Amino acid sequence: MKYAIILGDGMADEPLEELQGKTPMEYASTPVMDELASMSELGLLHTIPDGMKPGSDTANLSVLGYDPAIYYSGRSPLEALSIGVPMKDTDIALRANIVTLSDDDVPYEEKTILDHSSGEISTEDAAVLVEAVKKELQNEMFQYYVGTSYRHLLIWDKGEVVDLVQPHDILGQVIGDKLPQNPMLREMMKRSHEILNHHPLNEARRAAGLNPANSLWFWGAGTTPKLSSFQEKTQKKGAMISAVDLLKGIAVGAQMTNISVEGANGTLETNYEGKAEAAVKALLEDGFDFVYLHLEAPDEMGHQGSIERKIKSIENLDQRILKIVKTKMDASGEDYRLLVLPDHPTPICVRTHTSTPVPYILYDSTAPRRENWKYNEREARQTGVYMAEGHKMIDHLFER
Ligand SMILES: [Zn+2]
Repeated sequence: MKYAIILGDGMADEPLEELQGKTPMEYASTPVMDELASMSELGLLHTIPDGMKPGSDTANLSVLGYDPAIYYSGRSPLEALSIGVPMKDTDIALRANIVTLSDDDVPYEEKTILDHSSGEISTEDAAVLVEAVKKELQNEMFQYYVGTSYRHLLIWDKGEVVDLVQPHDILGQVIGDKLPQNPMLREMMKRSHEILNHHPLNEARRAAGLNPANSLWFWGAGTTPKLSSFQEKTQKKGAMISAVDLLKGIAVGAQMTNISVEGANGTLETNYEGKAEAAVKALLEDGFDFVYLHLEAPDEMGHQGSIERKIKSIENLDQRILKIVKTKMDASGEDYRLLVLPDHPTPICVRTHTSTPVPYILYDSTAPRRENWKYNEREARQTGVYMAEGHKMIDHLFER
Protein backbone atom coordinates (compact mmCIF):
# COMPACT_ATOMS: atom_id res chain seq x y z
CA MET A 1 0.00 0.00 0.00
CA LYS A 2 1.22 3.50 -0.87
CA TYR A 3 0.17 6.62 1.02
CA ALA A 4 -0.08 10.30 0.07
CA ILE A 5 -1.16 13.48 1.79
CA ILE A 6 -1.96 16.39 -0.54
CA LEU A 7 -2.37 19.56 1.48
CA GLY A 8 -3.71 22.91 0.25
CA ASP A 9 -2.33 25.36 2.80
CA GLY A 10 -5.03 27.70 4.12
CA MET A 11 -7.53 26.40 1.52
CA ALA A 12 -10.56 26.35 3.84
CA ASP A 13 -12.57 29.54 4.29
CA GLU A 14 -15.95 31.03 5.27
CA PRO A 15 -19.08 31.69 3.14
CA LEU A 16 -18.66 34.92 1.14
CA GLU A 17 -21.32 37.37 -0.02
CA GLU A 18 -19.32 37.89 -3.22
CA LEU A 19 -19.80 34.15 -3.89
CA GLN A 20 -23.50 34.06 -3.14
CA GLY A 21 -22.83 32.62 0.32
CA LYS A 22 -20.45 29.95 -0.91
CA THR A 23 -16.85 29.42 0.21
CA PRO A 24 -13.97 29.48 -2.33
CA MET A 25 -13.76 25.64 -2.08
CA GLU A 26 -17.50 25.35 -2.74
CA TYR A 27 -17.41 27.89 -5.59
CA ALA A 28 -14.26 26.65 -7.30
CA SER A 29 -14.57 24.13 -10.15
CA THR A 30 -12.98 20.99 -8.64
CA PRO A 31 -14.18 17.89 -10.51
CA VAL A 32 -11.36 15.65 -9.25
CA MET A 33 -11.82 16.55 -5.58
CA ASP A 34 -15.60 16.16 -5.89
CA GLU A 35 -15.27 12.80 -7.63
CA LEU A 36 -12.82 11.67 -4.93
CA ALA A 37 -15.20 12.88 -2.21
CA SER A 38 -18.01 10.77 -3.68
CA MET A 39 -15.80 7.70 -3.22
CA SER A 40 -14.23 8.62 0.13
CA GLU A 41 -14.60 9.21 3.85
CA LEU A 42 -15.45 12.91 4.25
CA GLY A 43 -15.22 14.71 7.58
CA LEU A 44 -13.75 17.50 9.69
CA LEU A 45 -10.33 17.48 11.35
CA HIS A 46 -9.30 19.65 14.28
CA THR A 47 -5.66 20.40 13.49
CA ILE A 48 -4.90 23.22 15.98
CA PRO A 49 -4.93 22.10 19.64
CA ASP A 50 -7.01 24.37 21.88
CA GLY A 51 -4.98 27.23 23.28
CA MET A 52 -2.37 27.10 20.52
CA LYS A 53 -1.95 29.72 17.80
CA PRO A 54 -3.39 28.69 14.41
CA GLY A 55 -0.56 28.51 11.87
CA SER A 56 1.14 26.29 9.32
CA ASP A 57 3.68 25.27 11.97
CA THR A 58 1.31 23.77 14.54
CA ALA A 59 -1.15 22.54 11.87
CA ASN A 60 1.33 20.70 9.67
CA LEU A 61 3.03 19.12 12.69
CA SER A 62 -0.44 17.87 13.61
CA VAL A 63 -1.25 16.48 10.16
CA LEU A 64 2.15 14.74 10.05
CA GLY A 65 1.33 13.07 13.36
CA TYR A 66 3.40 15.18 15.78
CA ASP A 67 1.22 16.43 18.64
CA PRO A 68 2.01 20.17 18.72
CA ALA A 69 1.40 20.21 22.45
CA ILE A 70 4.49 18.01 22.76
CA TYR A 71 6.65 18.80 19.75
CA TYR A 72 6.02 22.50 19.00
CA SER A 73 8.83 24.86 20.09
CA GLY A 74 8.17 27.83 17.83
CA ARG A 75 8.02 28.40 14.11
CA SER A 76 11.39 29.66 13.03
CA PRO A 77 13.46 26.90 14.70
CA LEU A 78 11.81 24.61 12.16
CA GLU A 79 12.82 26.98 9.35
CA ALA A 80 16.33 27.07 10.77
CA LEU A 81 16.47 23.29 10.30
CA SER A 82 15.54 23.74 6.65
CA ILE A 83 18.22 26.36 6.04
CA GLY A 84 20.64 24.00 7.74
CA VAL A 85 21.45 26.44 10.55
CA PRO A 86 22.95 24.54 13.48
CA MET A 87 21.17 25.64 16.68
CA LYS A 88 22.72 25.35 20.11
CA ASP A 89 20.30 24.46 22.91
CA THR A 90 20.66 28.00 24.25
CA ASP A 91 19.90 29.59 20.87
CA ILE A 92 16.60 31.27 20.06
CA ALA A 93 15.51 31.37 16.43
CA LEU A 94 13.32 34.22 15.14
CA ARG A 95 11.61 34.60 11.80
CA ALA A 96 12.77 37.81 10.08
CA ASN A 97 10.23 38.83 7.47
CA ILE A 98 11.26 41.56 5.06
CA VAL A 99 8.17 43.77 4.95
CA THR A 100 6.87 46.97 3.35
CA LEU A 101 6.29 49.96 5.63
CA SER A 102 4.58 53.14 4.44
CA ASP A 103 6.68 55.85 2.81
CA ASP A 104 5.08 58.74 4.68
CA ASP A 105 7.51 61.14 6.37
CA VAL A 106 6.83 60.16 10.01
CA PRO A 107 8.93 58.55 12.78
CA TYR A 108 9.44 54.77 12.49
CA GLU A 109 6.90 54.01 15.23
CA GLU A 110 4.19 55.93 13.32
CA LYS A 111 4.70 54.03 10.08
CA THR A 112 2.00 51.68 8.72
CA ILE A 113 2.76 48.09 7.71
CA LEU A 114 1.43 47.62 4.17
CA ASP A 115 2.68 44.18 3.14
CA HIS A 116 4.11 41.25 5.15
CA SER A 117 5.80 39.81 2.04
CA SER A 118 7.16 42.88 0.17
CA GLY A 119 5.07 41.79 -2.80
CA GLU A 120 6.37 38.20 -2.50
CA ILE A 121 9.88 39.51 -3.22
CA SER A 122 12.26 37.12 -4.99
CA THR A 123 14.90 35.35 -2.93
CA GLU A 124 17.61 37.01 -5.07
CA ASP A 125 16.43 40.56 -4.31
CA ALA A 126 15.78 39.80 -0.65
CA ALA A 127 19.24 38.25 -0.22
CA VAL A 128 20.89 41.52 -1.31
CA LEU A 129 18.88 43.45 1.27
CA VAL A 130 19.33 40.96 4.13
CA GLU A 131 23.09 40.94 3.47
CA ALA A 132 23.10 44.75 3.69
CA VAL A 133 21.48 44.55 7.15
CA LYS A 134 23.75 41.68 8.21
CA LYS A 135 26.83 43.74 7.32
CA GLU A 136 25.75 46.50 9.70
CA LEU A 137 24.00 44.64 12.50
CA GLN A 138 25.46 41.09 12.76
CA ASN A 139 27.48 40.47 15.97
CA GLU A 140 28.27 37.74 18.54
CA MET A 141 24.75 37.79 19.90
CA PHE A 142 22.72 38.13 16.68
CA GLN A 143 23.34 36.14 13.48
CA TYR A 144 21.33 36.72 10.28
CA TYR A 145 20.53 34.00 7.72
CA VAL A 146 18.99 34.37 4.26
CA GLY A 147 15.95 32.13 3.69
CA THR A 148 13.42 32.09 0.85
CA SER A 149 11.51 35.02 -0.66
CA TYR A 150 10.42 37.25 2.26
CA ARG A 151 11.11 34.65 5.00
CA HIS A 152 14.51 35.00 6.70
CA LEU A 153 16.07 34.04 10.03
CA LEU A 154 17.75 35.58 13.05
CA ILE A 155 19.56 33.45 15.62
CA TRP A 156 19.82 35.05 19.09
CA ASP A 157 22.54 33.57 21.25
CA LYS A 158 21.30 32.90 24.80
CA GLY A 159 18.11 34.76 23.87
CA GLU A 160 14.57 34.64 25.27
CA VAL A 161 11.36 33.24 23.79
CA VAL A 162 9.68 36.65 23.69
CA ASP A 163 6.11 37.10 22.49
CA LEU A 164 6.13 38.92 19.12
CA VAL A 165 3.43 40.12 16.72
CA GLN A 166 2.88 38.28 13.41
CA PRO A 167 3.14 40.83 10.59
CA HIS A 168 0.36 39.25 8.49
CA ASP A 169 -2.02 39.85 11.42
CA ILE A 170 -1.62 43.64 11.45
CA LEU A 171 -1.69 44.65 7.79
CA GLY A 172 -2.79 48.28 7.32
CA GLN A 173 -2.08 49.17 10.97
CA VAL A 174 0.39 51.65 12.56
CA ILE A 175 3.29 49.64 13.97
CA GLY A 176 4.16 51.62 17.17
CA ASP A 177 2.49 49.41 19.77
CA LYS A 178 3.15 46.24 17.76
CA LEU A 179 6.92 46.51 17.96
CA PRO A 180 8.93 44.15 20.21
CA GLN A 181 9.10 45.11 23.91
CA ASN A 182 12.70 43.94 23.89
CA PRO A 183 14.81 47.08 23.21
CA MET A 184 17.54 45.23 21.24
CA LEU A 185 15.07 43.64 18.81
CA ARG A 186 13.17 46.91 18.53
CA GLU A 187 16.33 48.90 17.81
CA MET A 188 17.50 46.38 15.16
CA MET A 189 14.16 46.63 13.34
CA LYS A 190 14.43 50.42 13.37
CA ARG A 191 18.02 50.27 12.15
CA SER A 192 17.06 47.83 9.38
CA HIS A 193 14.65 50.47 8.07
CA GLU A 194 17.39 53.10 8.06
CA ILE A 195 19.64 50.69 6.13
CA LEU A 196 17.01 49.48 3.64
CA ASN A 197 14.62 52.36 3.01
CA HIS A 198 16.74 54.16 0.41
CA HIS A 199 18.81 51.14 -0.66
CA PRO A 200 19.33 51.35 -4.47
CA LEU A 201 17.44 48.08 -4.90
CA ASN A 202 14.40 49.58 -3.16
CA GLU A 203 14.61 52.78 -5.20
CA ALA A 204 14.56 50.55 -8.28
CA ARG A 205 11.58 48.60 -6.87
CA ARG A 206 9.68 51.85 -6.24
CA ALA A 207 10.48 53.04 -9.78
CA ALA A 208 9.13 49.72 -11.12
CA GLY A 209 5.93 50.12 -9.07
CA LEU A 210 6.91 47.28 -6.67
CA ASN A 211 6.57 47.41 -2.89
CA PRO A 212 9.88 48.38 -1.32
CA ALA A 213 11.25 45.81 1.15
CA ASN A 214 12.21 48.41 3.70
CA SER A 215 12.21 46.84 7.14
CA LEU A 216 12.81 43.54 8.88
CA TRP A 217 10.05 42.26 11.16
CA PHE A 218 10.90 39.69 13.84
CA TRP A 219 8.36 37.09 15.08
CA GLY A 220 7.85 33.36 15.78
CA ALA A 221 10.59 33.03 18.40
CA GLY A 222 11.42 29.51 19.52
CA THR A 223 13.94 26.96 20.80
CA THR A 224 15.62 23.98 19.12
CA PRO A 225 12.94 21.53 17.92
CA LYS A 226 13.17 17.89 19.04
CA LEU A 227 11.17 15.82 16.55
CA SER A 228 11.44 12.03 16.65
CA SER A 229 12.18 10.08 13.47
CA PHE A 230 9.08 9.69 11.26
CA GLN A 231 10.19 6.28 10.00
CA GLU A 232 10.80 4.98 13.54
CA LYS A 233 7.41 6.33 14.59
CA THR A 234 5.40 4.94 11.64
CA GLN A 235 7.58 2.31 9.92
CA LYS A 236 6.97 4.28 6.73
CA LYS A 237 9.71 5.78 4.56
CA GLY A 238 8.49 9.33 3.97
CA ALA A 239 9.23 12.15 1.53
CA MET A 240 8.27 15.84 1.63
CA ILE A 241 7.48 18.03 -1.39
CA SER A 242 7.12 21.70 -0.45
CA ALA A 243 8.55 25.06 -1.50
CA VAL A 244 8.53 26.61 1.95
CA ASP A 245 11.28 26.37 4.56
CA LEU A 246 8.86 25.58 7.38
CA LEU A 247 7.76 22.28 5.80
CA LYS A 248 11.27 21.42 4.63
CA GLY A 249 12.45 22.05 8.18
CA ILE A 250 9.78 19.80 9.69
CA ALA A 251 10.93 17.09 7.25
CA VAL A 252 14.59 17.57 8.29
CA GLY A 253 13.59 17.34 11.95
CA ALA A 254 11.53 14.19 11.24
CA GLN A 255 14.37 12.72 9.18
CA MET A 256 12.16 12.49 6.11
CA THR A 257 13.56 13.15 2.60
CA ASN A 258 12.98 16.59 1.07
CA ILE A 259 12.38 16.36 -2.68
CA SER A 260 12.99 19.71 -4.32
CA VAL A 261 11.13 20.64 -7.48
CA GLU A 262 12.45 23.21 -9.95
CA GLY A 263 10.16 26.24 -10.05
CA ALA A 264 8.25 25.38 -6.88
CA ASN A 265 8.14 28.79 -5.18
CA GLY A 266 5.13 28.99 -2.89
CA THR A 267 3.26 31.44 -5.13
CA LEU A 268 0.22 31.14 -7.44
CA GLU A 269 2.63 30.62 -10.32
CA THR A 270 4.38 27.60 -8.74
CA ASN A 271 5.30 24.42 -10.65
CA TYR A 272 2.14 22.37 -9.91
CA GLU A 273 2.79 19.65 -12.48
CA GLY A 274 6.40 19.26 -11.35
CA LYS A 275 5.27 18.69 -7.76
CA ALA A 276 2.63 16.13 -8.84
CA GLU A 277 5.08 14.20 -11.02
CA ALA A 278 7.68 14.21 -8.24
CA ALA A 279 5.12 12.74 -5.81
CA VAL A 280 4.18 9.92 -8.16
CA LYS A 281 7.84 9.17 -8.92
CA ALA A 282 8.68 9.07 -5.21
CA LEU A 283 5.98 6.44 -4.59
CA LEU A 284 6.26 4.36 -7.75
CA GLU A 285 9.97 4.53 -8.61
CA ASP A 286 11.99 5.74 -5.62
CA GLY A 287 10.76 3.34 -2.96
CA PHE A 288 8.95 5.73 -0.65
CA ASP A 289 5.90 4.42 1.21
CA PHE A 290 4.55 7.89 1.91
CA VAL A 291 4.69 11.34 0.33
CA TYR A 292 3.53 14.66 1.83
CA LEU A 293 2.81 17.24 -0.92
CA HIS A 294 2.27 20.76 0.45
CA LEU A 295 0.88 23.59 -1.69
CA GLU A 296 1.39 27.08 -0.23
CA ALA A 297 -0.55 29.18 -2.76
CA PRO A 298 -4.10 29.15 -1.24
CA ASP A 299 -2.73 30.49 2.06
CA GLU A 300 -0.86 33.33 0.38
CA MET A 301 -3.98 34.26 -1.59
CA GLY A 302 -5.96 34.25 1.66
CA HIS A 303 -3.43 36.63 3.24
CA GLN A 304 -3.65 38.84 0.14
CA GLY A 305 -7.46 38.88 0.51
CA SER A 306 -7.91 37.91 -3.18
CA ILE A 307 -11.05 35.78 -3.72
CA GLU A 308 -10.30 35.32 -7.41
CA ARG A 309 -6.71 34.18 -6.89
CA LYS A 310 -7.67 31.87 -4.00
CA ILE A 311 -10.27 30.16 -6.20
CA LYS A 312 -7.63 29.88 -8.95
CA SER A 313 -5.15 28.24 -6.56
CA ILE A 314 -7.79 25.67 -5.50
CA GLU A 315 -8.68 24.92 -9.13
CA ASN A 316 -4.97 24.53 -9.91
CA LEU A 317 -4.59 22.09 -7.01
CA ASP A 318 -7.47 20.07 -8.47
CA GLN A 319 -6.51 20.11 -12.15
CA ARG A 320 -2.70 20.44 -12.07
CA ILE A 321 -1.83 18.25 -9.04
CA LEU A 322 -4.64 15.91 -7.92
CA LYS A 323 -5.69 14.97 -11.44
CA ILE A 324 -2.14 13.89 -12.30
CA VAL A 325 -1.55 12.00 -9.03
CA LYS A 326 -4.88 10.13 -9.18
CA THR A 327 -4.62 9.27 -12.87
CA LYS A 328 -1.06 7.97 -12.57
CA MET A 329 -1.62 6.07 -9.32
CA ASP A 330 -4.75 4.44 -10.77
CA ALA A 331 -2.82 3.52 -13.93
CA SER A 332 0.02 2.00 -11.88
CA GLY A 333 -2.26 -0.63 -10.33
CA GLU A 334 -0.67 0.07 -6.93
CA ASP A 335 -3.04 0.12 -3.95
CA TYR A 336 -2.99 3.52 -2.33
CA ARG A 337 -4.65 5.66 0.33
CA LEU A 338 -4.88 9.41 -0.27
CA LEU A 339 -5.67 12.14 2.25
CA VAL A 340 -6.62 15.57 0.86
CA LEU A 341 -7.04 18.51 3.26
CA PRO A 342 -5.98 22.03 4.27
CA ASP A 343 -3.84 22.54 7.37
CA HIS A 344 -6.05 25.39 8.68
CA PRO A 345 -8.41 27.97 7.16
CA THR A 346 -7.04 31.34 5.95
CA PRO A 347 -10.35 33.11 5.46
CA ILE A 348 -10.45 36.00 3.02
CA CYS A 349 -12.57 38.03 5.47
CA VAL A 350 -9.80 38.10 8.14
CA ARG A 351 -6.72 37.53 5.88
CA THR A 352 -5.10 35.35 8.54
CA HIS A 353 -5.29 31.85 10.04
CA THR A 354 -8.14 30.47 12.16
CA SER A 355 -8.52 27.26 14.20
CA THR A 356 -11.80 26.16 12.63
CA PRO A 357 -11.69 22.39 11.88
CA VAL A 358 -10.88 21.65 8.24
CA PRO A 359 -12.63 19.34 5.73
CA TYR A 360 -10.77 16.20 4.70
CA ILE A 361 -11.16 13.44 2.17
CA LEU A 362 -9.69 10.00 2.87
CA TYR A 363 -9.71 7.85 -0.26
CA ASP A 364 -8.79 4.15 -0.40
CA SER A 365 -8.27 2.72 -3.89
CA THR A 366 -8.99 -0.80 -2.57
CA ALA A 367 -12.33 0.18 -1.03
CA PRO A 368 -13.96 3.09 -2.90
CA ARG A 369 -17.22 4.23 -1.24
CA ARG A 370 -20.45 5.32 -2.97
CA GLU A 371 -21.53 8.70 -1.61
CA ASN A 372 -23.08 11.72 -3.25
CA TRP A 373 -21.25 14.50 -1.47
CA LYS A 374 -18.82 17.06 -2.83
CA TYR A 375 -15.62 18.29 -1.17
CA ASN A 376 -16.23 21.49 0.82
CA GLU A 377 -16.59 22.75 4.36
CA ARG A 378 -20.42 22.61 4.52
CA GLU A 379 -20.82 19.04 3.26
CA ALA A 380 -17.92 17.82 5.43
CA ARG A 381 -19.71 19.28 8.46
CA GLN A 382 -22.98 17.60 7.42
CA THR A 383 -21.40 14.11 7.47
CA GLY A 384 -20.99 14.43 11.24
CA VAL A 385 -17.57 12.76 10.96
CA TYR A 386 -15.15 14.65 13.23
CA MET A 387 -11.65 13.92 14.51
CA ALA A 388 -10.87 16.08 17.55
CA GLU A 389 -7.14 15.36 17.73
CA GLY A 390 -5.50 16.19 14.42
CA HIS A 391 -2.26 14.35 15.16
CA LYS A 392 -4.14 11.04 15.22
CA MET A 393 -5.22 11.32 11.56
CA ILE A 394 -1.89 9.89 10.31
CA ASP A 395 -2.58 6.66 12.23
CA HIS A 396 -6.00 6.52 10.59
CA LEU A 397 -4.35 6.96 7.17
CA PHE A 398 -1.83 4.19 7.89
CA GLU A 399 -4.28 1.79 9.56
CA ARG A 400 -4.68 -0.23 6.33
ZN1 LIG B 1 -0.78 27.17 6.64
